[in-house]
Amino acid sequence: MDYDVAIIGGGAAGLGAATTLARSLRRVVVIDAGEPRNAPAAGAHNLLGREGINPLELLATGRQEALGYGAGFIDGTVVSAQRHADGFRLGLADGTGIGARRIVLATGLVDELPEVPGLREYWGSRVLHCPYCHGWEVRGKEIGVLATSPMSAHGTLLFRQLSDRVTVFLQPGVEFEDETWEQLAALGVQVIEGRMLRLREAAGDGETQLEAVIAGERETTFRMDALAVAPRFRSRGDLYQQLGGTLSEHPMGEVIPAGMMGVTDLPGVWAAGNAGDLKATVSVAHGAGVEAGGAVNADLVAEDARQAVLARR
Ligand SMILES: Cc1cc2nc3c(=O)[nH]c(=O)nc-3n(C[C@H](O)[C@H](O)[C@H](O)COP(=O)(O)OP(=O)(O)OC[C@H]3O[C@@H](n4cnc5c(N)ncnc54)[C@H](O)[C@@H]3O)c2cc1C
Repeated sequence: MDYDVAIIGGGAAGLGAATTLARSLRRVVVIDAGEPRNAPAAGAHNLLGREGINPLELLATGRQEALGYGAGFIDGTVVSAQRHADGFRLGLADGTGIGARRIVLATGLVDELPEVPGLREYWGSRVLHCPYCHGWEVRGKEIGVLATSPMSAHGTLLFRQLSDRVTVFLQPGVEFEDETWEQLAALGVQVIEGRMLRLREAAGDGETQLEAVIAGERETTFRMDALAVAPRFRSRGDLYQQLGGTLSEHPMGEVIPAGMMGVTDLPGVWAAGNAGDLKATVSVAHGAGVEAGGAVNADLVAEDARQAVLARR
């Protein structure tokens, strides 16, 4: 085998696993396609010691740290994974391949955004999903919430904690419970019913704003500083599926079922970060990578000890 461990994905989770394994003197490689989820955001928040750092700068620093301990990096995409007697064979998009005794899936997730023309353009800047990641930056501002499911009621309350100027855009087919209507009325949250047809930038007094066009007998427009949405989160689980795994349905999307320390139901395969936990933020994903790295090392230590005993006999 070329490596003890191949880590697929070089985001916060993959780097956490890489550094842990490299510091344990494991032959480890990270194969990374270089598209971390938070790349569109200007800063990463709620991080110990690195508050507000540019997400790509954070990962570049983490990569240097892992390199310093001897981890290898390949910029590329893993397109196939197969089990071999003594580990795994991974195929890359450029036609090359590598072998590893264990693999860590740190492939992140795909944010499936609501289909409103113009919305994707502002994803990560003015179109937001996480009040803990970006809420402080829009505190006190005019915030819209695109309600695409009854679960948007919860998100509305979280953003209402940050601003008393919150408007819900209730999309056709979504119904709120009576209790929700009562809460929104009590908290002074305006609700506008009608399909959001498109989103565009509009000049404001000072900074530009977002302008939503809402369907109705007559189209109306509404301006806001930020729009909160709830994407469907789809774990990048194709390699896990190729190896025989089945993704789990989750109220927020679908996910690789990962247990304690990232263990999966496939022997030799761990999952860390958003691949196995849709809610994980950067610190949580990094911590999960560190934990999975430790678990993989322990598994290899046990196997190495078994083999040493057999060789001695
Ligand atoms: C817009 C936005 C802003 C956010 N802001 C914050 C914030 O301020 N603070 C915070 O804590 N969290 C924030 N988050 C959440 C944060 O992005 C995630 O918690 C974090 O990226 C998860 O790390 P990860 O390593 O699991 O996945 P990712 O960071 O997504 O990394 C996965 C990596 O794997 C690579 N990859 C995937 N498949 C393959 C493959 N087959 N072969 C090779 N490489 C592959 C990808 O290209 C990517 O580089 C934000 C999320 C979004 C969408």
